[in-house]
Amino acid sequence: MSDFLPPGWTVQEGHGIGLVIAGPSGAGKSSVIAEVLRRDPTLAFSVSATTRPRRPDETDGRDYHFVSEPEFDRLLRAGDLLEWTTYGGHRYGTPRHEVLSRLLAGQDVVINVEVQGALALRRAGLPHPVVLVFLVPPSREELVRRIRGRGTETDQTLAARLAIADAEVRQIPEFDYLVVNDTLDQAVKRVEAILTAERCRLRRCSPLA
Ligand code: ADP
Ligand code: 5GP
Repeated sequence: MSDFLPPGWTVQEGHGIGLVIAGPSGAGKSSVIAEVLRRDPTLAFSVSATTRPRRPDETDGRDYHFVSEPEFDRLLRAGDLLEWTTYGGHRYGTPRHEVLSRLLAGQDVVINVEVQGALALRRAGLPHPVVLVFLVPPSREELVRRIRGRGTETDQTLAARLAIADAEVRQIPEFDYLVVNDTLDQAVKRVEAILTAERCRLRRCSPLA
């Protein structure tokens, strides 16, 4: 806080920050986000809806809202998704209410999406521009190792995810920040530094914000 500011200005108040973490499957988005949330319990996570089957280590309502195809259709028809996409034969979407209500209440929200979803969120008319972070692995070889190590893909779905990853890295110039996930601790510290920097932006403190 500071009261040594022009009339009407406040520090670190107003709308929350929408921090979008995108990047290739296997880059470590879920791992980095989980650790960022663990270290800062004031942050919220946007739990996406998906028609993908739940993995053994995932919890419904915490990692995703696992929904049926008709239920996803209903969310779409009701306008409940800020953006959505089909990825690897399954649909994924960002719930509008979950994100908007928190941002308007001043809470920062972390969002895990693929690259097209990140760019769509920029155009989604949120109260403040979202901050787009692209997370990359230290090498393509390491990306393959991480996806294999996670044990969730067949050779076929691994190849499909790599083909998408190759297209995704070409979109890096559209993003605000690039974070290399070499060690988890370093990547988490970089994301924390981005949040700190974004909270200090002048436009977030002005009476017009
Ligand atoms: P994404 O959410 O981007 O698909 P995950 O968070 O599921 O990626 O990570 C993919 C795999 O890589 C997981 O098995 C995870 O434990 C591992 N992983 C994530 N970050 C690192 C890291 N910095 N070093 C080594 N392994 C990592
Ligand atoms: P996974 O099946 O590995 O959990 O996710 C596959 C891809 O879908 C990842 O790149 C993840 O970031 C993305 N994803 C997860 N939720 C959403 C969402 O709500 N919208 C979009 N566009 N992508 C999402």
